[in-house]
Amino acid sequence: MWNRRQQTEAALVHHERRQREDEAPRLRQEVRQLAALDIEIDEFRAAGTVLAARHTRRIVVEQAPAHFEIPCSEERCTGGGYDLTYEVMRALEARRTLFDGQAACPGSVGSAECGRTLRYVAHASYIEDAPVLGRARASDRRP
Ligand SMILES: [Zn+2]
Repeated sequence: MWNRRQQTEAALVHHERRQREDEAPRLRQEVRQLAALDIEIDEFRAAGTVLAARHTRRIVVEQAPAHFEIPCSEERCTGGGYDLTYEVMRALEARRTLFDGQAACPGSVGSAECGRTLRYVAHASYIEDAPVLGRARASDRRP
């Protein structure tokens, strides 16, 4: 069981992540022609071979923030998590349909490093021709 301090910390971390997501630009605005995005996530324990968690994130393109931060699944981990925002956004801007990558958790468990690693495979699809959206350039936007 978690003690009260851990619970408070976890709630705070969750709150801060939500805040970063809320403050991020919308995915739809950043990558106008994105139609769908799924990210398959495998998380490994420190040894790198034992699968700790696996899940697929189906991104709701119409509502999702342009912010991809995955919490560490080790519940005793503090200061951890994986921020994939930069590389995922670069790949989407380059209109890649299949891309992957990995990240290491920077958090700690007690006095030790968390050491979990995450690998992801993302599948994206794009609207081939979107004349109405495509016409809306930055210079046309109203303030
Ligand atoms: Zn961690």
